[in-house]
Amino acid sequence: MTSSPLPRRVALISVHTSPLAQPGTGDAGGMNVYVWQTAIRLARRGIEVEIFTRATSSSDAPSVAAAPGVTVRHVIAGPFEGLDKRDLPAQLCAFTAGVLRAEAAQAPGHYDVIHSHYWLSGQVGWLARDRWGVPLVHTAHTLAAVKNAALAEGDTAEPQLRVIGEQQVVGEADRLVANTETEAAELLSMYDADADRIDVVTPGADLECYTPGSSAEARSVLGLDPDETIVTFVGRIQPLKAPDLLVAAIAPLIKEVGSGRKLRLLIVGGPSGSGLQRPTALMDQVAELGISESVTFLPPQPSDRLVQVYRASDLVAVPSHSESFGLVAIEAQACGTPVIAADVGGLGVAVDDGRTGVLVNGHVPGDWTNALEKLLAQPDRLAELGRNARRHAEKFSWEHTVDQLIESYRWAMESFAAQTDAAHRDAEQAAAQTPGGPARARR
Ligand code: UDP
Repeated sequence: MTSSPLPRRVALISVHTSPLAQPGTGDAGGMNVYVWQTAIRLARRGIEVEIFTRATSSSDAPSVAAAPGVTVRHVIAGPFEGLDKRDLPAQLCAFTAGVLRAEAAQAPGHYDVIHSHYWLSGQVGWLARDRWGVPLVHTAHTLAAVKNAALAEGDTAEPQLRVIGEQQVVGEADRLVANTETEAAELLSMYDADADRIDVVTPGADLECYTPGSSAEARSVLGLDPDETIVTFVGRIQPLKAPDLLVAAIAPLIKEVGSGRKLRLLIVGGPSGSGLQRPTALMDQVAELGISESVTFLPPQPSDRLVQVYRASDLVAVPSHSESFGLVAIEAQACGTPVIAADVGGLGVAVDDGRTGVLVNGHVPGDWTNALEKLLAQPDRLAELGRNARRHAEKFSWEHTVDQLIESYRWAMESFAAQTDAAHRDAEQAAAQTPGGPARARR
């Protein structure tokens, strides 16, 4: 605990994606949920939040009062549409200028802290920090070096330019927020971060929205068969998330005759990242495997529909090659649905292996087929995992995340103030030692 006061106002920077966008497709995913859920809760605690994000439509108003105490500021930086995330480094100067101008129009000392999300925002935050004289807290969300070390076959590696940019932000931020101890260790080993500046802040789920409920009702709302066994994938459809692995692994079980079970795979989300190069790839794979009739695709769903998706499912699968945390795993468990997940990154924290779900090592389809088969053959075990799942998910609330974030902001303010004081003292000492005295040195 620090003794510093609460920040009055935080500038939250989310360059490449807006918290107002529907997650589950394109660039909108867990980070959007994180930014929004923490912003509204910070505001409820009396900390005003202004979120800077790039305008992606001519209809984006410069400033939107998005929730009490939360303003979204749309910064014009490059064309509204048609820019890929990889094009955005070229727009960072324009974006930063927009952020600096917005602050210059306010009374001095408008913000107490900057919190940047993803490395592109960290680049903006780094400069704003120096200009405004306030600390920078940074959350990476994903790290290129980690992602590149676990690429799906044929997936495109993140460019070195991003790794360098991340490295710079790691070096400049006053505090680094890592989702898990695993991520903290990656920041240390791959980015040479300063251990004393890392805060592990676990993300959460909206435990009031995601609650257990009747599967039959949920299936009726979604138009799903009440008697089928349903395995579900929720998320952005791209190789990194490995929905293709799930399709390959479940296909033999769908085709299996004599199991006495009718199995359905539900896939919720839209193309994203390198998945945009072949947006129909997953549907093509399903068709080639001859299982189209047993696979349902749903477009990205808002959270009040997603809760029905989780409740309707017997099992939620998160087979990702790399995952800094995995909000979907927590949300599913909050609804009382067990999870089968790849044993990578934060999923080892999000899923309590053997108690609320199962972690699978590696991405060999046959291993996943076996793990799925074993689980689906034991409905009683699935029910038990589901019962434990809600209790496990309750450890991950956004309220808890915000408690920890506020501590991180206060640490940042305290260390920044100490640094600034020390710098002033040094400057005064140097001036006093300058021949002619302080007056001359100041000139
Ligand atoms: N999501 C959503 N609707 C969808 C699919 C996903 O709202 O149709 C949300 C989901 O609730 C979760 C986020 O998108 O909060 C995905 O986060 P996760 O950490 O699982 O993956 P990321 O997108 O960060 O890679």
